Order: sequence, then C-alpha cells, then structure tokens
Amino acid sequence: EFIKTYAAHPVYHAPRGTQLHAKSWTTEAPLRMLLNNLDAQVAENPDELVVYGGIGQAARNQESLRKIIELLLELDEDHSLLVQSGKPVGIIRSHPQAPRVLLANSNLVPAWATWEHFNELRAKGLMMFGQMTAGSWIYIGTQGILQGTYETFVECGRQHFNNDLKGKLIVSAGLGGMGGAQPLAATMAGGVFLGADVDASRIQKRVDTKYIDRMTESYDEAIGWVKEAMAKGEELSVGLVSDAGDMLEHLLKDNFIPDMLTDQTSAHDPINGYMPNGLTLEEAADLRKSDPAKYKDLSLKSMARHVGFMLDLQKRGAITFDYGNNIREFAKQGGEPHAFNFPGFTPEYIRPLFCEGKGPFRWVALSGDPEDIYTTDRALAEAFPENKHLLNWLEKARERIAFQGLPARICWLGMGEREKAGLIFNDLVRTGKVKAPIVIGRDHLDCGSVASPNRETESMKDGSDAVSDWPLLNLMSNTSGGATWVSFHHGGGVGMGYSQHAGMVVVADGTDRAAECLKRVLYNDPAMGIFRHMDAGYEQAEETAKRFNLSL
Ligand code: NAD
Repeated sequence: EFIKTYAAHPVYHAPRGTQLHAKSWTTEAPLRMLLNNLDAQVAENPDELVVYGGIGQAARNQESLRKIIELLLELDEDHSLLVQSGKPVGIIRSHPQAPRVLLANSNLVPAWATWEHFNELRAKGLMMFGQMTAGSWIYIGTQGILQGTYETFVECGRQHFNNDLKGKLIVSAGLGGMGGAQPLAATMAGGVFLGADVDASRIQKRVDTKYIDRMTESYDEAIGWVKEAMAKGEELSVGLVSDAGDMLEHLLKDNFIPDMLTDQTSAHDPINGYMPNGLTLEEAADLRKSDPAKYKDLSLKSMARHVGFMLDLQKRGAITFDYGNNIREFAKQGGEPHAFNFPGFTPEYIRPLFCEGKGPFRWVALSGDPEDIYTTDRALAEAFPENKHLLNWLEKARERIAFQGLPARICWLGMGEREKAGLIFNDLVRTGKVKAPIVIGRDHLDCGSVASPNRETESMKDGSDAVSDWPLLNLMSNTSGGATWVSFHHGGGVGMGYSQHAGMVVVADGTDRAAECLKRVLYNDPAMGIFRHMDAGYEQAEETAKRFNLSL
C-alpha cells in the first residue's frame, strides 16, 4: 500500500507514529530517515534529491529511490541491502544484529579521484555525491551542525575575546544547509553576525526556520543594523544578499574589521557549488551546463579574490579561520599563493574535543512527536547533572531551535557518555516513555571516522593527515558492533580527492538486541577517535584512554 501510494504521489515526508510499514523498526528506521532527508523542510533541493552541501544527494535518481523504498519494505532481519552511490545493487544474507543497510557513496580509486572524472560518471548516471549525511540518511537539517558551530565560536571567544562575544562581530558567507547554522550559533554565543549569500531564497529559508533574524539586499542597511546591535551589546544576525567577496571588499574599503571571520560557501565544489563573482544565478546555471571548464576557471579565480580579501582582513586584525569547505585549496589553485596563511578550524578549536572521543552525537524521534525529544532532553539532563555545559546547551536548544522534519537533537558527547545516553534512550522506548523508537547517529565529521587533510585531520601531530586506514577501521568496527546502517564515503565536506569518511546509525527500539548493539557501537565509535589521536601522539587522548581502560 505504502509503495503504491508513494508511486502515485511521491511525497518526501517520513511517515510518523507507531505503525510499522516495514517488517521491523530496523528497516522502518532507514525508510523514515531516507524520506526525512528529502523532506522539503530539511533538504535544500528535494526535486533533484539534493539534501545539502552543493550536490549531496540521498539517492541516485527517482528509480533508485523508489526501489530502495520497495526493498526496505520487504527486507527481513536475516538480510542486508547494499547501496552503491545511491542505487540499490544487491541483497546479502546476514543476521539480526548485522547492519540492515550497507552504503558506499562516491568512492573512486585515488588516482582517478577528481571532480572531472566524478562528474563524467555522474553525467552517465553511474554515481552520485553522498556528501557526509545526505547519502547516509542521517541529515537532520541545519541543527545538525549548529552545536559544532556554536562550540567553535564559543571556543574562539574563549581563546581571543576573554570568553565574551557580546558586541563582537562574526562575518561569514554561505547560508545554505550547513552554513545556515552560523547566524543562530553566533547569536546563541552572544555575538552579532553578518553573512552573505548570493541566493536570496537560501537566506529566506533561514528566516523562515528562525536561524537568522533579518535579511536585506542593501549593504548599507546591513551595516547599519550590525553597528547598532554591536553598540548596544545586543545579539543580532543579518543575512546580506551578496557575493561573499563583494561584501568583504566593502568591509575593507570601510575599514570595518570583523572580530571573527570565516566562510561556508560550498567552495568544496568549484563547479556545482561555489558561484563565481559577477554572474547572476541564471548566468551561473547556464554556464555550468554549457561550459563547465570555464565555470571552474571563473570559480577558482573568484575564490582566490575572496580569500585574498580574507587575508587582508586577517592582517588588519580579524581572527580568521577556514570552516571546512576547502576554500584555501581552491583559492590556491585559482592564484592566491598565501591561501593557507590562515588555519583550519579543527586544529584551532575542535581537536581537543576529539581527543576525548567527543563528537556530534545526534538522535531523531521516529514518532514525529516533539514531546519525545523533550523527554530525551530531560533524561539527559538527569543523567549528566554535573555537566553544566551540556545542561546549558540543552536549555538553549529547546528554547531556540525550530525542528525541521522529524524532531531531532544534536549534542556533542564523548567516550562513555554516548553509550550511557544510548542505553537511556533504549529504556525510554522499552518503558513506553517515548512513543516510538529513537534513531541515534552522527556526522561523518567525528573524532575517529574521517581522514581529511585540509579539515578534520589537518596538521596532525605525527604528520599522518592523509592516512585513511582510520575511517576504514571505523567502518569495520561499527559493522562488527552491529550498527543498523553503515556507510563509507569519499569527498564529503572538502570535495573529490580530499577526504574519506565513515558513518553509522543505530536504532534504539527498546529490545535486548538493540541494547547489545548500542553497547558495542556507542563504545567502539568514540574509542576509534581516541585510538586515532593516541596513535598520533596526543597526550590528552592518552589520558582519556587510561581513564576508560583503552590503552594498549
Ligand atoms: P549548500 O550548498 O547548502 O550552501 C552553500 C551556499 O553558498 C549556497 O546558499 C550558495 O548560494 C552560497 N554561495 C555559493 N557561492 C557563493 C558566493 N560566491 N558568495 C556568497 N554565497 C555563495 O552547502 P552547505 O551544506 O551549507 O555547506 C557549505 C560548505 O561548508 C560546504 O563546503 C561544506 O562541505 C562545508 N561544511 C563545513 C562543515 C563544518 O563543520 N565546518 C560542516 C558542513 C559543511
């Protein structure tokens, strides 16, 4: 019935409630999460199956999407579905504690791993770009990156602004699926935010979902608002419809220097992501199709100009960092030789958290009822009363985050904490305190799941930035542990050739089986981060390992 109705009227909207459409919650969960990834409230461009991050898709094409849905509805607990770059390609024999879905997205043999080769294959219908959580069905809207962005701004404030961002100006660009978290993270951290995006509809989406306060097409109006808020010490976020480079050029001319400066345009993809300076949206769309090589050339040159202005602002005092979109690499290719003169955000602000196995733990209420998330919020507050930072985050999140799609929560948790939280959620399901199972996952940007030398593994202490044995071991650990679905991707965050990373999602359905899987997966997954950082020589990871008896 479900697939018949779906085929007649494809609706990108996850079913809610307690009624199963599939044979068990371990297949209903990926079904709901796949459709949730494509929900109009969640995805940036559902008609093209694009979830976020340039062209990050949830399925290869309509036919593959329908087939995946059909197969998930039929799949039993002795089989697992194989998905190759968004297309279902086989069913294997497995067992109830094995992953129900195994996904590999956008992987290419290293010497062929370029955007050019990938785009050829994509044009032939042989591949799709999985980004990080688009092709692995655990994207939860802009909230997914919100806490990480908030933690980064707060940590930068601690290091450079005496722990106080009141009256301080954070400037960035790119207000898309992930970048759209920046304005809210900035105001939650107490500051003032000014961000550019060339596409007004992207900013409007952030206004509609309460991630940004105000929007304008006028630079002067934006600056007026920002200056007033700074003078009054008020929190405010402003979205300016503009090319990123043009906005920074204005700021330089006015000698109006941001306190903090970064960027989240989709620079990781110079053809299907970043917009070259001086083109309208329509002109860019036409050129992308008619002459992709010329588009790329213009795009790289624009990034060089954009990063050049960032370097000038850095020289005049702005605390400047790359925010994980690989803009330094492409600016260098476009002719800016000093692009790497500002650091990436991971070594500056995130690595100490990775050494404790901390990362972007997230969960989703499959019932669709926001009350279920509030119940989990309360349960976590009771379980971790000593963790004031966590309590503060949960309170702020509840007050200020509007859910997109199925209600979800993100919360950076570390070794020990993730397992404890997972088992608490399983008990909430078992005892009926929440109405339906809870899905637990994380971003591929995590402590032990990614090799990305211009981002998560930039400047590793022992120089092992490009070693991708680690994400493969992470994938194998989570498969052995019994995650409900696992994934291995290439190119997420920073583009083709620059990263490899693994994902996992595990379902708390209240059963003993789930409790066993949760105990293994939510132990192994953060432990991988500690092994990885201990091996690279980080003392803090060594200490965490001793605390949890992980040391070899
Ligand atoms: P997205 O494609 O949803 O949004 C990108 C936005 O950039 C779009 O709204 C687009 O209009 C805008 N843009 C493109 N060129 C521009 C220009 N020249 N000037 C102004 N605006 C421009 O992508 P997303 O999901 O928001 O991700 C953005 C980037 O951030 C990606 O490269 C992604 O890999 C990276 N990222 C970083 C992190 C992190 O933790 N640091 C997390 C997720 C994503």
